[in-house]
Amino acid sequence: SVPLSFFGGIGGASRIGVLVKGSNYLETLAAVDTVVFDKTGTLTNGSFNVVAIHPEEDIDPDYVLSFAAYAEAFSDHPIALSVKEAYSGRIDQARVADVREESGHGVQAHVDEHVVLVGNDSLMAEHGAGWHDCDLTGTILHVSVDGRYVGHIVIADVVKDDAGQAIRDLHAAGVKRCVMLSGDREEVAGAVSERLGLDEFHAQLLPADKVAAVEELLEREGTRGKLAFVGDGINDAPVLTRADVGIAMGAMGSDAAIEAADVVLMDDKPSQIARAIGVARKTMRIVW
Ligand code: ADP
Ligand code: MG
Repeated sequence: SVPLSFFGGIGGASRIGVLVKGSNYLETLAAVDTVVFDKTGTLTNGSFNVVAIHPEEDIDPDYVLSFAAYAEAFSDHPIALSVKEAYSGRIDQARVADVREESGHGVQAHVDEHVVLVGNDSLMAEHGAGWHDCDLTGTILHVSVDGRYVGHIVIADVVKDDAGQAIRDLHAAGVKRCVMLSGDREEVAGAVSERLGLDEFHAQLLPADKVAAVEELLEREGTRGKLAFVGDGINDAPVLTRADVGIAMGAMGSDAAIEAADVVLMDDKPSQIARAIGVARKTMRIVW
């Protein structure tokens, strides 16, 4: 039988905007000593803004942006949404076909009779499209049309207001490791990690690499049974299931994430995690 105070704990969590799907997760939350975060949409707002367009010589910036927006016509990725927002024109979806979204890389699509690639270095490399290196700090979106590199779009995301506080609160609550996993570039992930005071970060990860990174963390001394993963479910639903407790963003997160998660943060605020751990520990003391 489930002790009554467990229901109290679940109720207490719900009052601070945290949905806990079962009393066993309160037990795990109370013991958590490693919190692994996805970057985009979890520690950052996930609402990117296009800050610059750098076309190749004799290419119009609008040409780069419009092909990118068309290729992203059917994608819900935060990056895709920002590109479509920057391209203020209407997108005629009938002109877009054979779309292949490669998670952690970007998209390939036919726009009219053209083959368009929009994504990161690895997407360009995989398709043998050349690209120029750049040392900007934003997320870089390369665009190629019919095998020709036409330029890149720089987009920037901002860290959530409460993200720094969330990490400080977790450390203060005795959480040993706060780790960030990201599919984004080393430079971007490093800057976010330093700014937030994370203990560790891993960049340029594909969705499968994120699962492997969590498995590696679980192998470390004393971590097993105590690892939480926090994500928004875009490209990270498998990691949510792999962690001892999977925590998803409820407001902006995907349905797949909310389904896969054990705990849902209704307001998408990372600072709710330390508060939820506090409620869980209090509940466990009452149960014991
Ligand atoms: P994160 O791990 O930071 O949450 P993702 O795993 O969702 O990021 O994506 C990793 C990288 O893959 C992005 O930074 C981007 O370069 C590329 N990418 C993924 N989806 C798309 C898309 N629809 N369009 C362009 N690039 C994309
Ligand atoms: Mg993500």
